[in-house]
Amino acid sequence: MYQLIDFKTKQTVTTDDFVFAGEDTPWEVKMDLEKIKRRINLDYFTQAAPCLSKYLPLMPIQEPANFVSLRESATPLVRSKVIGKALGIDLYFKVEGKNPTGSFKDRGSAVDITLAKEMGAKGIVLASTGNMAASCSCYAAAAKMPCFIIVPEGVSMSKLAQVISFGGKIIQVKGSYNDAADLAYKIAKSKKFFLAGDYAFRVEGQKTAAFEIIDQMLFQVPDEVVVPVGCGTNLTAYRKGFEEYQALGLIEKNPRLVGVQATGADTLERAFSNNEKEIKPLKSANTSATAIAVPYPIDGDKALDAIYQSGGEAVSVSDTEMLSAQYELSTQEGLFVENASAATVAYLFKKHKAGKLPQGKKVVCVLSGEGLKDPSVVLKAAIQPPIIYPNEADFDKLYNNNFFDNKTMVFIEQNEVIFASVPTVQEVKDKLIELFEAKYDDDFIVKVHQSIRHFLGKGKSITVSDLQDIVQDAREMVDHGAKDALKVISFKVATAKDGIAEAEVTVERDGQLYFASDEGVGPVDAIIKALTKACPGEVSYKLTDYKVQIRGQGADAVVYVELKMLKSGLPSVGKAISPDIIQASVEAFIDAYNIRR
Ligand SMILES: *Cc1c(COP(=O)(O)O)cnc(C)c1O
Repeated sequence: MYQLIDFKTKQTVTTDDFVFAGEDTPWEVKMDLEKIKRRINLDYFTQAAPCLSKYLPLMPIQEPANFVSLRESATPLVRSKVIGKALGIDLYFKVEGKNPTGSFKDRGSAVDITLAKEMGAKGIVLASTGNMAASCSCYAAAAKMPCFIIVPEGVSMSKLAQVISFGGKIIQVKGSYNDAADLAYKIAKSKKFFLAGDYAFRVEGQKTAAFEIIDQMLFQVPDEVVVPVGCGTNLTAYRKGFEEYQALGLIEKNPRLVGVQATGADTLERAFSNNEKEIKPLKSANTSATAIAVPYPIDGDKALDAIYQSGGEAVSVSDTEMLSAQYELSTQEGLFVENASAATVAYLFKKHKAGKLPQGKKVVCVLSGEGLKDPSVVLKAAIQPPIIYPNEADFDKLYNNNFFDNKTMVFIEQNEVIFASVPTVQEVKDKLIELFEAKYDDDFIVKVHQSIRHFLGKGKSITVSDLQDIVQDAREMVDHGAKDALKVISFKVATAKDGIAEAEVTVERDGQLYFASDEGVGPVDAIIKALTKACPGEVSYKLTDYKVQIRGQGADAVVYVELKMLKSGLPSVGKAISPDIIQASVEAFIDAYNIRR
């Protein structure tokens, strides 16, 4: 029913283990389409709705009853409501995040794991950047087979959580995806495990997405299909799917395939722009889109070949362009997708901006994964939502100050320095409009300006993310009505060799000076204890919570401190930011103390 061939030599290959790839070249499955054509009913094919049983004869599975399926496939093909019109094209989205584990990988895993079971492998091993792991561990659980997963350190926590829930045996390695893939290959060979992942059989499952697009478009072929590229396997699968439909006589032409990478992992684009047939590996990948952070795409040459054959192109987009496209997809189309998936739409925006997007074409963007797969990327670009006391007055303060007119995310390099020296108030105002589309009142801008001066005075230049924090802070620290109840006149902390810290503070309350000192396990502990001591008497507090967040990168990152105390039995929360943790703690303490409820 099928043959395994080497991608480079096109010779038939065989193996006596469960590794379906050469050491250096990928293999591919060649289906006997003539035989299949005789077996299937083409009338039925053009009429039946897209579903798995329809495509089973086109998959290399011996016994349909063995098929490990979890209702992957038949994902929606959604016509764009807004973006297509804005770009002047007839745009569709193939929403692959609707598969069982949230990415298209499930189509391939269904075939991979079914074959592992049919062939009698005792276990499964694979390398992954996250989604492959989530998908394979899910299908392995369904097939009741042990599944070993090698991931590079630092993959998305939500993807790890999926793997762990499915009982996948996960190992993180210090290295890139490619290091993980090398290790998985070795383990599969020596332990006789089935090597799942971006190898020959996966394509046979993933190609069903191409079948579906044609079925869902009622056998009209789109002009262009845009696919995000990591290892290049999925783009290869689309090409194979369209070619097989053409060979079966179901369509007359193939769509143009566009492969989109991240600029920090742009192997295909580099080869394509030099008209080369082979990709050159990069040392490392540099992008926040983990699903396509691949320095050496295993199927890179295959994908490149598919692109050339289809008259398509290989392109790349920046992380910021992806994020911005992700936001447009969510806000304009109601589609929350992974940033790697948004790369496809980012490419369209980029091309349109350059005036090079042909008008009126039918284009399908493959939205490869679900947005909840990697929320950290969104949260990093987000303007943190404010936290207020549950009363309407606090809400009104935000509402009346135009807080909700802001964007909810910013798409600029977060570490870009915007103020290295003290700006004018007008400059601050202009920057706020430029970055957040925010038009604040003048009092507020003066407050932000003061903070900026304070930061710069501490030798900290202001980056985009710092400004974001400062604005938020100024916003949250709206007057509590009793600003002056407690003032810290001076403070001092010293840490001894044994780690014990000693703090001294002088505070002013209601015109009276108080002095106190105390020891703590660290400088923060000591200063807060001393402050607590300096505010004795009729108010009693208990420190119940203390939270620190380092925002930004590097030694001069901003520290955000949130401090909860019980004041006269009522909880009160203070917040502050500063480049200095002690300073931030002191200010958070004052903030919490001065809140009048
Ligand atoms: C795996 C993956 C990709 C990249 O696909 P390749 O087959 O590796 O090229 C893109 N987007 C998402 C969401 C993925 O999970």
